[in-house]
Formats: sequence, structure tokens, C-alpha cells
Amino acid sequence: MRDEPIGELLPPARLMLTPGPSCIDPRVYRAMMAPMVGHLDPWFMEMMTDVQILLRRVFQTDNRVTYPLSASGSGGIEAAVLNPLEAGDDAIVCVNGVFSERMAVIAERTPANIIRVEAPMGRTVDPEDVRRAAKGKKLKLIGLAHGETSTSVIQRLADYRKVADEFGALLVVDTVATLAGVPFGVDRDRVDICFSGSQKAISAPPGMSPMTVNAKAEEIIRARKTKVQSWYFDMQPAMNYWGKERLYHHTPPIPLIYALREALRCVLEEGLEARWERHAINQQALIAGVEAMGLELFVQNPADRLPTVTGVRIPEGVDDHNVRTQLLDEFNIEIAGGLGPVKGKIWRVGLMGYSSQRQNILLFLAAFEKVLLDQGFRVPSGAGVGAAVQSYRQPQREEVNVGK
Ligand SMILES: *Cc1c(COP(=O)(O)O)cnc(C)c1O
Repeated sequence: MRDEPIGELLPPARLMLTPGPSCIDPRVYRAMMAPMVGHLDPWFMEMMTDVQILLRRVFQTDNRVTYPLSASGSGGIEAAVLNPLEAGDDAIVCVNGVFSERMAVIAERTPANIIRVEAPMGRTVDPEDVRRAAKGKKLKLIGLAHGETSTSVIQRLADYRKVADEFGALLVVDTVATLAGVPFGVDRDRVDICFSGSQKAISAPPGMSPMTVNAKAEEIIRARKTKVQSWYFDMQPAMNYWGKERLYHHTPPIPLIYALREALRCVLEEGLEARWERHAINQQALIAGVEAMGLELFVQNPADRLPTVTGVRIPEGVDDHNVRTQLLDEFNIEIAGGLGPVKGKIWRVGLMGYSSQRQNILLFLAAFEKVLLDQGFRVPSGAGVGAAVQSYRQPQREEVNVGK
């Protein structure tokens, strides 16, 4: 064993233009450094109420059961599907990418019967296919990802809500990639169980999964005949810690809750509609830029494009890894490659929360041009930045859907 001292922790100053984690507002960093208190401290228990109020406002819900689960977004999936499902239940999971498939994989570990309804990569799941798969069944739930980050696709929740109503099923929705970045409201969109992730459009550090459950789903969970197979993700004790009782279940990550509180305050100070519009306008500029550079988007139908993540096809002869490495080494910019079947085929540029800022898009497009030229892809000089500038001068407001 070598015995040199390990140096001080000095992370590089990266610009994260990935599908999470996103960059963090300095206010949120400051909140994380606030003094530690105990998780049963009366001050902390009061502060938990603030976080729940803020979460309800961001989720746009009156649901009593609304709290940050101590886990990353995947833990949110786990809790959302394990709690309602029991042996003998039928459930449908709509699979159109890696994260919605993760929901299916997790659900398949329960004793319930899980039916996958699939769509090709880059497409939405056809609600007619869901209806056909459900035919003749009494469905417990339909699960899906609002934004499928791995393919940069968004789905229209109303279509699936309609099918869920026809079959008396709960609608379980992963909003990890959409909450606080895309028009959405839990009550308005009538989602029964909904979860998100702290590190995406909310722009808090990773490690928390905001969760909300309506009265109907809560009743189903409380009426279970069998115990939830996971002790940690069992919602009933979590409901007691985050409910009136504030009964100890596990020690939550206190500094992350401080950070989440401040990040939610930032979201609401900006205003949800203003934030949705900012995400849409910045993505419009990014799209104008990459298209002007001669690149193609992965998602063909503009209505299916997820506003927080843009999938760009990697052109023939260009090396995925070299481009991303050069962006990181030369410009401190991180973008993501493809996940699963689209690995090596697409790049994913995330414009989430605090990362979605004009100066970041213009810097990225300029850096991207330099890197692509160096990697042998011909780009008309200044085309990307020029098109983005024009897009900012004249945003296509009619295309900016703020959910009104
Ligand atoms: C990122 C993401 C997840 C997983 O979140 P982790 O925090 O990485 O566990 C799940 N679903 C969607 C849609 C995501 O974008």
C-alpha cells in the first residue's frame, strides 16, 4: 500500500448539460451548509412542514401525503409501485425507454402480474395499445414516465388517464425529468401516485425523491392485506414520520432537505409558468442551433419532444466518446450519451432547472462547433450560435406550451 496523503477535495467547475444532475443555484449550496440539527428536533419538525407545503405547491396538489422520500429517483419508482401492488393484481407499465423499463423491472419483482406495453425508442406509447392490453382485466394501476429521459420523449398524460379511468386503475407517473420544468399539475392531470427527483429540473442535489399520493391511492395502500416487501420503501411508516405524528422511521438526509427547501423556494419565486416558459424557449434556441449545424434530432414528432432533454443523432463517422471527452476536457461542459439501445447513436443535452440559461446554450453551441470541427464534422461557421441568437430574438411563442 502506498502512503501518500490524499489531497483536499477539489471538484472541477463543470457545466452540467445532462439529464441530471443539473447545476445548482448558490443559494441552494448555502442552504446545505446550515448547521445540523436532529431529525426529531422541534425546529426540524416544523421545517418539515415548510418542505411539504413547498412540495404541494410545486406538484400543484392538495394531497395530504406529500413528502421527500430519502432516495434518488429510482427509489421513487420503487416506492410508487411496491406500495399499491399485491399478489393477484394486474398492472400495466408503459415502456418506451430505460426509465420506464426500470419501472417494469421493479414492478416485476412484486407478486403482481405485470403487463408491459411497449413503444419503439423515440416514440410515445400508444394509448390504444394500453387499452387493448387491459381488455377484460380489472387493473390495479397503469404506470408510465411523463418524460422518458433516455430517449427525450414526453407523453400526454390525459390519454393514459382516460384509459386508467375506463379500467378503474390508479395512474402512477414518473415526473423525475419533468417536474418544475414542464407544464404539469398532479391534481389537474389527475395523477394518483406521482414522484420526482431532486437533481433534475428542481436543481437540488441528488438523493431525494419528492412523492405525492392522493386519498384514493392512500386508501388502497392502507388496506393492503400483505406487508410491502421492502421495509425501507414501505409508505405507511413514511406517512407517519411526515404525517402529524412525526414518528421516527429512518434518519433523513437533513442537509439535502435544507437544500431541497431552498431549491423549491427558487422554483416558486420564479413561478411555475415562467419556469416552464424558460425551459421551452431555451430548448427552442438549442434546437435551432443544432439543426443549423446540420445535426438531426432523435425525436421526429415535435409534440413528443421532452423540453428538458434534447436527443441529437450522432452523425455518421463521428465518435460519441471523443466528442464528449473533448467537451469536458476543453470546455468543462458535460453532455450525456445514449442509454440502452440508443447508446452510441444519440447525445442527450439536458437543459434542466438552473442549467437552462441563455448563456449556457450559447456557450455550448460555440464549444460544440469547435469540437465537431476538430472531430472531422463540417459545420458552417458560427451557424449554431447564429440560429440560437435569432431564436432568442424571435421566440415562436405559439409553440411554447405553458399548459394554459
Ligand atoms: C433520472 C431518472 C430516473 C432515475 O433517477 P435516479 O435519481 O438516477 O435514481 C428515473 N426516471 C426518470 C424519468 C429519470 O429521468
